[in-house]
Order: sequence, then structure tokens, then C-alpha cells
Amino acid sequence: MTLNVSALRDAFPILHQEANGKPLVYLDNAATTQKPRAVIDAIRDYYQGTNSNVHRGAHYLSDRATADFEAARDTVAAFLNADREEIIWTKGTTEGINLVAQCIGRERLKPGDEVLITTLEHHANIVPWQQACLATGASLKVVPLREDGSVDTEAFHQLLNERTRIVALSHVSNSLGSVTPVAELIAAARAAGAITLVDGAQAVSHFPVDVRALDCDFYAFSGHKLFGPTGIGALYGRRELLEAMPPYQTGGEMIEVVTFEKSTWNQLPYKFEPGTPNIAGVVGLGAAIRWLQGQARDALARHERALLSAAHEQAEAFPGLKIIGNAATKVSVLSFLLDGAHPADVGVLLDKQGVAVRTGHHCCMPLMDSLGIPGTVRASFSIYNTLDEVDVLFQALHKVRSFL
Ligand code: PLP
Repeated sequence: MTLNVSALRDAFPILHQEANGKPLVYLDNAATTQKPRAVIDAIRDYYQGTNSNVHRGAHYLSDRATADFEAARDTVAAFLNADREEIIWTKGTTEGINLVAQCIGRERLKPGDEVLITTLEHHANIVPWQQACLATGASLKVVPLREDGSVDTEAFHQLLNERTRIVALSHVSNSLGSVTPVAELIAAARAAGAITLVDGAQAVSHFPVDVRALDCDFYAFSGHKLFGPTGIGALYGRRELLEAMPPYQTGGEMIEVVTFEKSTWNQLPYKFEPGTPNIAGVVGLGAAIRWLQGQARDALARHERALLSAAHEQAEAFPGLKIIGNAATKVSVLSFLLDGAHPADVGVLLDKQGVAVRTGHHCCMPLMDSLGIPGTVRASFSIYNTLDEVDVLFQALHKVRSFL
């Protein structure tokens, strides 16, 4: 089945505008994706017709808000192939990883233990572990990359040992697009007795994820990178581990009984959800996933691959352009440098031509250090981008080169 990109674009009202007097070409999808009308409508309908607090209300609106809120949890659980009790609402990937690093990392790590991450990680999957190591005396170990920007899996197996307590891996690199073979690495980590966390921020919009098949202990993602709203995400956690973990934050809703002497905790998943949640965000995320599941995901993936290969083909032929990260398995991200041009200048000049990209270290300073570069220009494509937009990017880059 071929994809009708024009019809798909019609679902995204934001795309139909000019930026700096030129048709907007939005190629910053790894930073955040745009939202289909289904999501915008769901959030508007929630505030217009359903707004109420969840779980505690004894009235019609509250019952409806609770039903919608919990239905979205079922949607996420089915999306990841998990049980609903294993899905915890978070603000996003960052909060999901912090929750795990604080509740299990600090509880279980001790001096001499090791946490294993990779050079590709976003700061969100580095700093929480660094802090957990600082607090406990454990050490952070880092798996190097191969030349092509993929994780060196042989080095991973060498670094994994009986002291490794936690393995935290990004499924897909936000800077380079490299896909890490997490299933293989998780199997090895589990055999070595380590707890595993996958940072799925950049994966979920590109391909289906099955946490049971991956056999990971935790999987974190953000709604806004999955055509959903900002400020909402989900953390999958293996039930036995979530049961054993202390709460992350405390307050209303996450308790069973409170007295001035002591408190006991609510059942899963509410034990990890103190306070009034981002109900509209949850409803919007549910709508985003339902919308995505209504699309032919194989056709979307084929379209993204076509965009990436067209971009690579033009990039390879472009004088003075160096592609950064060229892993054999990669999602639709093109990171590059232009000879003699600072990435920030390239970004500004592309913006003047209506082309939105991201420039800089992409929250991956250690990765950039390891590559010996200050940053890259990153064009990240999504399902609603067109092959014509790939052409516009390179026409704009030719102009950039003539300016610099
Ligand atoms: N991990 C990766 C790989 C990311 O790309 C991002 C965001 O860019 C994050 C984590 C953090 O996500 P958020 O800012 O939505 O919490």
C-alpha cells in the first residue's frame, strides 16, 4: 500500500503555513513532532466537555474524565504490549528515567557496582545515572561507538560483567538516528543479572515496540515525540520491580492510608502518580496513539526510509558535506556538517528559507566530544514530510553554501 502523503499532511494543520515568507519545511521532528487534528480536537473536547479531576470525584464529569484517562492507559499498555498496571504517567522520557534512577538506582546501587550506558545517550539518560552513581559510590561505564555511529556491541559484551547492576540504553539515537539492537543487549544484561532500561524517546514514532518481546525492565517515552502533547509521557516498568520500588514522589492519590504516624502506598500504577495528573495530556496522548494505529504503519515506515535514502543520496553528492553517523540500521535522521560552516550559521540560513532543522549538540555533549565536533546540523524527517521537502532542504543548502 502506498502512502497518500498529501492526505496525511492535511491531518496536520500546522504544516500549512509560511515561515519567514517561505513555505514551512519542518525537519525538526526529533525535537518534537507535530500534532494531528485528532489530538488537537481531543484536547479541546476534553476541556470543553469533560474537564474534571480524576478518580476522586463523585459526579458525572469526573466519572467521564476518569474513564477517558484510564482508557488512554489501556491504549498505551496495548501499544507497548504491557499490562495497564505497568504503565505510569510521567512528564516525559526525562522524568521516566529519573524515576527509575532514583527509585531503583539509588536503592540498589552500592560502591563497586556499575551502571552501563553508551556514548550515544541523550543527557536525560546520562545525568540521572551519574547522580545515582555519585549518591551511592557506583561507577558509570560507557560503551564506545563504531566508526559508523552505531553502538559497538562487542565492546558492550566486554564491559558487561557481574558488577553491572543497571544497563540503560537508548533505542534510537536522537543525534545520529542509529538504532541500537537493544533486544540482544538486554538478553545479555539480564543473563548477567542487571536491570535494563530503554530510552525509547526516538523509537516509538518510527516503529512498533513490544516490551515483552524486548524483555526490558523499563521503557520510557515522551508523548510529544509521538504526535501527542508536551508534558506527558509514559514509563513501562516490569510489575515485580515496580511493586518492590519505593515511591518516586509522595502526596495525594499515591497513598492507601495516611496517618500522622505513617502512610502506606496505593496499588500500581497509582503508587507512582502523586497529585492531579496532566489529564488533558493523557487524553491527547491516547488520541495520538489511536490515530497512529489507524495508519498503515508499514507504509509510514517505507515512506520514512524513502525520505532518508533520498536525503542520504543528495547529501553524499553535496560538495563539502560530511554525514555524521551512517549506521546500517538508522531512522530518518540526517546529521551533517558543511565544510567551513558553523552548524548554528547553517541553521539560521536554512530558517530564513523556511527550513526548520536543529543545530548544536542535541543534548549529547559527550557524543559530540567523542566525535571531536561541537555539534551538527540535524534534519529529522517524519511521516508527513515529502520528497519535495528533501529537495527544498538541499536547494536551501546550496544557497547557504553560496552565502558562507
Ligand atoms: N532521550 C532521547 C533519546 C531524546 O531524544 C530526548 C529528547 O530529545 C529525551 C530523552 C528527553 O525527552 P523529553 O525532553 O521529552 O523528556
